[in-house]
Amino acid sequence: MLGGMSWESTQVYYRLVNEEIRKRLGKLHSAKIILYSLDFEEIEMLQHKGDWDATEGILKDGARRIQAGGADFLLICTNTMHKVAPAIESSINIPILHIADAAAAHCLENGYNRVGLLGTRFTMEQDFYKGRLLNKYGIEVVAPGEEERAIVHQVIYDELCNGRILEESRNKFMRIIENLSVSGAQAVILGCTEIPLLFEGEQTNVPLVDTTYIHAMKAVEEALR
Ligand code: GLU
Repeated sequence: MLGGMSWESTQVYYRLVNEEIRKRLGKLHSAKIILYSLDFEEIEMLQHKGDWDATEGILKDGARRIQAGGADFLLICTNTMHKVAPAIESSINIPILHIADAAAAHCLENGYNRVGLLGTRFTMEQDFYKGRLLNKYGIEVVAPGEEERAIVHQVIYDELCNGRILEESRNKFMRIIENLSVSGAQAVILGCTEIPLLFEGEQTNVPLVDTTYIHAMKAVEEALR
């Protein structure tokens, strides 16, 4: 697991994977994990400077250490940083379980071929995520409007990655999700691994695709296989 982006969601991955292993294998079984956790301040600064090459170098270094530690496959525990997944993939010999592939499989199993997408600006606006959903799986993405994208992006970095879960922001996200549904989204992908923190124990009319949970379950399946 290449984590720390942010650690608020990495700790959820760690718990979900272990809970599922215990559920499936019983007794005191737990997951064998090599976790390399980055300093998110460094990554966040480079992202906002647009220096993706530098982020790529840092993530490649982490991925190589995980491989050297003996991992069979790699999870990058963030949607946004899958922007550099192809470059990481070519620098290691173990496979990456791509988070968008896991999300897409879940969408297709549930018959969703037109979905809303919430995530960082990078994920909502650039092509590395939406393009993969469309070109590889035929899933069309509806993104929120400019003003709503700004709110989602700000809440992710200023609140969720900082451990702050605010009801006011949950209500804003609820409205954005409703709007995506009105625009024809059959479900909404929570395409940022911290967003599910905002919806813990909450009910929504629109189905939500929790990428943290789905990615973690994919890892369990792959490990047990
Ligand atoms: N964890 C978030 C994601 O899934 C955002 C943090 C990041 O930029 O990596 O996109």
